[in-house]
Amino acid sequence: MFYRIRKVSVHQLFVPTLSISPKLLFMKKSLSCFTIVLGLSFANAFAQHTGRCMVQKQNASANTYQPKGIITDRAMVVIPVVVHVVWNSSEENISDEQIRTQIEVLNLDFNAENEQIGNVPLIFQGAIADVDFEFCLASKDPEGNTTNGITRTQTSNSLGMGGTTALHYTEQGGHDAWNPDKYLNIWVTKFSGNIGGTASFPGEGPTDEQGVEVNYKQFGTTGTATAPPYHLGRTCTHEIGHYFNLEHLWGPNINSCCNEDDGVSDTPNSCETYINQCPTGNAFSCTQPDMWMNFMNYTDDACMAMFSKGQKERMLAAMNSFRPGLLNSDGCETVPTHEIAEQNSLEVFGNPVGNELRFKVNASRTAQWELVLINAIGQVEQLGQFPANQLFTLSFQAKTSGIYTLVASQNGRLLSTRIVK
Ligand SMILES: [Zn+2]
Repeated sequence: MFYRIRKVSVHQLFVPTLSISPKLLFMKKSLSCFTIVLGLSFANAFAQHTGRCMVQKQNASANTYQPKGIITDRAMVVIPVVVHVVWNSSEENISDEQIRTQIEVLNLDFNAENEQIGNVPLIFQGAIADVDFEFCLASKDPEGNTTNGITRTQTSNSLGMGGTTALHYTEQGGHDAWNPDKYLNIWVTKFSGNIGGTASFPGEGPTDEQGVEVNYKQFGTTGTATAPPYHLGRTCTHEIGHYFNLEHLWGPNINSCCNEDDGVSDTPNSCETYINQCPTGNAFSCTQPDMWMNFMNYTDDACMAMFSKGQKERMLAAMNSFRPGLLNSDGCETVPTHEIAEQNSLEVFGNPVGNELRFKVNASRTAQWELVLINAIGQVEQLGQFPANQLFTLSFQAKTSGIYTLVASQNGRLLSTRIVK
């Protein structure tokens, strides 16, 4: 049996006044990727997390996974997300809006739709992956009740619960995970030692602690997360990469990085973290140009742009083997109400939708119904009225790919259905 020690990932935040020897970047860890924000407490940060970071773990390479064929390259996966905000000071209790900006970033990044894609150097453009993961804030909680996908817990811990076991347990001042088989749990909280985020790798750690943790100062793109270089939500993108088994581009051990791989064939071996950097064009640390704009580096948020096709394969393998429950979760389905009369139904013709959404409410009476179209991050995109029992067409040509919820209501009756474009 082969054991490998995982390292801590180090992020430098704020103005880099420290010159960091690359050797300082090889901190070891087990469960998570710590993106460390360097500052005055740099040494303290590692000292505080030594217990969590020095544990040996079994190596899990992509080769050990046996994809079950549940999802394929062409299938879009809708991943219900619950965000647990665990806060002490009111500043840490970030707004719903800030949380939505993070979901939006995830959807842009995992679908190759972000603004920075155009900056990818020519040699890597063919490797850009549309991972086809669509993240949505849960609309149904584990008990089947309606939810906005956000929990809020005030804790008495003022030092920061990020990176602690207690964060994952309500009894210890944090918040219990929602069933990790059905939801991607994201805890947003304060970290002591200026750590940016952590993630549980597939098959590692207790079930109740599966998920991602992100520093409230680096979550989303507004509110408390506006300080460059980690102000564009890429800490969470990076951590979710780990959650689906991606390694850093320099592989498991930067000491042998030019010879050791990250388990992905189309990400060239690299010996540079690009911490606090934003290169342009070709940059080298081994023999081939580095994919410095890949999300699994430490490059500035503004300069990250892509996952590779090989990374997508590895994430799909991890999903199929370790997190298959997410594929069939109903966490983003709208909760039906008992008001729905049996004779009423909302019928959609063609789903996934192409350039036109065609739908009809079947009802016993031809009354006027209200229409609301909601996108994946809860924004209302379209409002209207239409009579029952007639076919209607709504243009979807200009709409971005993703998940939508079509809601039709009339006099207390509520019908809804999920639509995919
Ligand atoms: Zn990392």
